[in-house]
Amino acid sequence: MKGATRALVTGAGGFIGHHLVTYLKEQGCWVRGVDIKKPEYNPTDADEFELLDLRRWDSCLQATRGVEEVYALAADMGGMGFISTNHAPILYNNALINFHTIEAARLNGVPRYLYTSSACIYPDYRQREAKVTALKEEDAYPAQPEDAYGWEKLITERLCTHYRSDYGLETHVVRFHNIFGPLGTWTGGREKAPAAICRKVAIAKLTNKHEIEIWGDGEQTRSFCFIDDCVKGMHKLMHSDYAEPLNLGQDRLITINELADMVAGIAGIKLTRKHVPGPQGVRGRNSDNSRLRQVLGWEPEISLEEGLTRTYEWIEKQVRSMVTAGAVMTNAMPSGVSPAVPVGSRESPELAPGSKA
Ligand code: NAD
Repeated sequence: MKGATRALVTGAGGFIGHHLVTYLKEQGCWVRGVDIKKPEYNPTDADEFELLDLRRWDSCLQATRGVEEVYALAADMGGMGFISTNHAPILYNNALINFHTIEAARLNGVPRYLYTSSACIYPDYRQREAKVTALKEEDAYPAQPEDAYGWEKLITERLCTHYRSDYGLETHVVRFHNIFGPLGTWTGGREKAPAAICRKVAIAKLTNKHEIEIWGDGEQTRSFCFIDDCVKGMHKLMHSDYAEPLNLGQDRLITINELADMVAGIAGIKLTRKHVPGPQGVRGRNSDNSRLRQVLGWEPEISLEEGLTRTYEWIEKQVRSMVTAGAVMTNAMPSGVSPAVPVGSRESPELAPGSKA
C-alpha cells in the first residue's frame, strides 16, 4: 500500500499487540505483526504476520526490515502469579528480545521506536500503603523496581534514552498501568487480576456456587485502563515529540475487593469472597496522569464500569463455551506456569548484533 506508514508490532500475537494491529489498520497504516505465536482468539488484521523468536538476532533483523515505526511489545510476561515465580527466564528472554530488537531497528534505519515499559519499574518503597500517592514519572529513581521483570524494563528504558542521544533513533517509552479488555489471557496462570476475577465470577455464576477466591485480604489497590484507551495513547505518543518515559493508565484507585464486587454486579450475582494466600505484588499503585495530560492533551476516557462490562461479557462467553465443551471449571489457583520458552530448551540465540543478517 503506497503512502501508508509502515509499522511493525512485536508481540502482535498477544493481548495489547493484537488490538494495536487492528487500531493501526484503522488509522490507515501498513502493518507487519511478529510473535512466536498467532493471536489466540481472533485472526490478526496485520498485512503480514511472521512467526519469529525475537530473542534471536537474525529474527530481529528480519522483523524490523523496511518499516518506519516499531512498536516493541514482545515480552515473556503475565500477571503477578507468573512474574513473581519466573525471574530467570523473564530477565533472560526479555533482555534478549529488547536489546536485539532496538539494535536491529537501528541497523535497518527505522526512524521511530516505541518501547512498552511498565508501572512495575516504580520503587517498592513508594507502594507500601493501600492509599498510595499516585506515581509520577520522576518517582522511578532511586530505583527499586519489581525484581527481574521491572529491572529489565528499567534497563531497556535507559537503552532507549541512549539510543536517542547517541544514535538519533526517535525513541518513546510508555509505562502501562494494568491494561485490560476482551481478547486477553483469561486462564492458564498468566492472566492478570481483572481477567482472573471476571473468570472466577463467570464460573461462580454458571456453576451457581457464588464464592470466589481472592489472593490476600483484597485491600491492595490498583488502577485499571481499558485496552481501547491504551492503543490510542500509544499511537499518540509515537507521533509526539516526547522522549521521556510516560505513564499510560487510569488514575482511579480501587481495591481488588471492590473490583470483584463491581464484576459481580455486572454479572448480576451476589458474591462471597474467600481470601487465600497468593502473590499480591505491591500494596498500592496508581498512575499520576499530570504529565500524560500535558504531553498528549488527552487521557484515558473509558470508565472502569464500561471496560469491565465489555471484558466480563467476553470472558463469560469463553467460560460458557468451555463448559459446553465439557470442561470442568473450578476456581482453584493455578499450580504453576511455564515461561514462553524455558531457558536452555532450544538452541541459543545468536548473541552478537551485526554478526550476520
Ligand atoms: P502478552 O503476553 O499478551 O503479549 C506479549 C507477546 O509477546 C505474547 O504474544 C508472546 O508470545 C510474545 N513473545 C514472548 N516471547 C517472544 C519471543 N521470544 N519472540 C516473539 N514474541 C514473543 O502481553 P501484553 O499484555 O499484550 O503486553 C504487551 C507489552 O506491554 C509487554 O511488553 C508487557 O510487558 C507490557 N505491559 C503490559 C501490561 C498489561 O497490563 N497488559 C502492563 C505493563 C506492561
